Amino acid sequence: MKVSEIYKSGRKSLSFEIFPPKKDEELKSIDETLEVLGELNPDFISVTFGAGGSANCNKTIELAKKIKEDYNIEPVVHLTCIHYDVNEIDRFTEELKDSGIENILALRGDVREDIPRKEDFSYASDLVTHLKEDSDFCVLGACYPERHPESANMVDEIKHLKAKVNAGTDVLLSQLFFDNSCFYEFEERCKIADINVPVIPGIMPVVKASQIKRMISMCNASFPERFQKIVDKYENNKEALFDAGMAYAISQIIDLLACNTEGIHLYTMNNPVIARRICEGIKNIV
Ligand code: FAD
Repeated sequence: MKVSEIYKSGRKSLSFEIFPPKKDEELKSIDETLEVLGELNPDFISVTFGAGGSANCNKTIELAKKIKEDYNIEPVVHLTCIHYDVNEIDRFTEELKDSGIENILALRGDVREDIPRKEDFSYASDLVTHLKEDSDFCVLGACYPERHPESANMVDEIKHLKAKVNAGTDVLLSQLFFDNSCFYEFEERCKIADINVPVIPGIMPVVKASQIKRMISMCNASFPERFQKIVDKYENNKEALFDAGMAYAISQIIDLLACNTEGIHLYTMNNPVIARRICEGIKNIV
């Protein structure tokens, strides 16, 4: 099923992101995670993609197939393009078609110095154009409520996002954020720019002190005072920080749903305990 169909029915989506385990033998342990995620009845599970190299493609596709075949859940396959040429992308999408996978999150990917950059795709919008010319995939795209780190300002950010949507992006999944007002402002800017596809907020429950510092430097995400106080108070108490991080994420989600967002995309970090706790916290919230 194409995930864009969910939003046509007016139903709110619940989805999870997972990543392929680094070591081959760990692919077996992902079953324990998928068992729990499956019980939580998600609309789709997206699978991340490493930059460059065929081993990355293989792991992502193997996991996506498992999600579809063994768990009967719709997978969304992340696909980066900056380090691939058009033939490599086509080989990959052929394999997706052969596996009955219908949804791709089309990404440029981060530019890595250690891998040669290819010339065929400069931005995610080039990949979206290529996918829409040549196939029938439902294409999702990434968006950044607080601006992609490479964008000079929000005007450029929205201009380029609009081009990505005009190229055929059906649904947008957002970068994580901790301050809902940033997401609401972003939604408003999208509306003004006539970006009318569903914009699904991405939520990452922060449950470890080390994770917080990494997230802020990687994602440009602002850190509200309310959350900063929690971290200052509990950063040396593992259990307390876990509880506080979960409660914060649940309160973010309830606020987003109350403000009529069309769904929630949860960055699970392959941790079924986190996903279960979040779902428990919102089980009667629609
Ligand atoms: P783009 O949409 O191409 O944007 C990149 C930058 O270029 C932005 O600053 C944009 O404003 C600018 N830009 C776009 N078009 C133009 C233009 N025509 N002229 C000038 N500037 C332009 N990375 C992975 O490696 N694997 C993953 O699985 C993965 N999953 C992700 C999932 C989500 C939901 C998100 C939000 C990000 C994910 N990323 C992943 C990270 C992503 O690859 C990086 O953020 C990357 O740097 C940008 O990818 P993009 O598709 O957003 O790029």
